[in-house]
Amino acid sequence: MSAHFETKRGMKVVRYGILSVLCVFFLGKILGGEGVEKSTPSSELVSLNYMDFLKSKFKEGVDREYLICLVDSLLSNEYIDPKVVDMLNDKIQETYVDEWPADTNPYPAHNLYKSWNTLLPHPYKNDICASDTESTFCLTDNYMNCGYGHPFEGVITSRFGWRDGRHHNGIDIDLIRGDTVVSAFRGVVRLAKWTGGYGRTIIIRHHNGLETIYAHLYKFLVKPGDIVDPGQPVARGGNSGASRGSHLHFETRFKGKALNPESLIDFKKFQLHSDSLVIRKTRSGYVAFQPGTLFHKIKGGDYLYKIANQYGVSVNQICKWNGIKRNTILIAGKELKVSN
Ligand SMILES: [Zn+2]
Repeated sequence: MSAHFETKRGMKVVRYGILSVLCVFFLGKILGGEGVEKSTPSSELVSLNYMDFLKSKFKEGVDREYLICLVDSLLSNEYIDPKVVDMLNDKIQETYVDEWPADTNPYPAHNLYKSWNTLLPHPYKNDICASDTESTFCLTDNYMNCGYGHPFEGVITSRFGWRDGRHHNGIDIDLIRGDTVVSAFRGVVRLAKWTGGYGRTIIIRHHNGLETIYAHLYKFLVKPGDIVDPGQPVARGGNSGASRGSHLHFETRFKGKALNPESLIDFKKFQLHSDSLVIRKTRSGYVAFQPGTLFHKIKGGDYLYKIANQYGVSVNQICKWNGIKRNTILIAGKELKVSN
């Protein structure tokens, strides 16, 4: 009986804790308006209070049921400080090393990111990329990633790469306002809100560590924390934010760095090129390519026409594959993708 009481009282404390978290969070939101930077400090303040609460609870001792309640109640939250998640995970690990199921994490690929931000589209710092070199990723499998759904089967109106002196970090697909946009892979919605030039934006974190971004939306069909399957409708497309005409701006990112969506997806056949993808660290980010893709290391005196001839491809193809222009200066030592 006393254990039962303990849990009930625990639940009350948790509810109270969460309630105050939400109150201050919303207050911060009202005070800060849509200004993301203004609302962040109040979230941090809340996290501090909540962490103090967790620390004192942990000191008193918590049982398995209570830990489950804590995790469950956090999942309904708008914002969870990664430190809180880490603290909970540490506690779970030290308490239930053997009997706890292997994947206790509420967020996909948490081991790669160590954070979960529902307010900022690009919250990641470079240090999470520091030790990366090259790895092969599974895009579809029977366990976690389970297939692919094409975000919107439309005509491409703008590709990834340099455009009007700016880097276009995604691909634009023509649509009519109200058209249904679906999630590319299985994952969890990290962000669903109005975000600067993106307009109404959805960001989904997937289990292999990729994040997909769907921008200029008209209407949301999901909210942060929702688990989505490949092909599941997540939004209606539109023209919100800095957009001229209705279209879907779609991005694929790894640890915050934009990858060319065409390196994994065939936008004419509306399917993946293959089940796996190689992601290689470069000086400025990552480059993604199909296993077996050829690269050319630039040497002094190289120019695009010469390289193109060497590999039997066109200058246009090299520009497209690498997101560069014909007059981009080639830097010795850098690598160019020279096959599809
Ligand atoms: Zn775009």
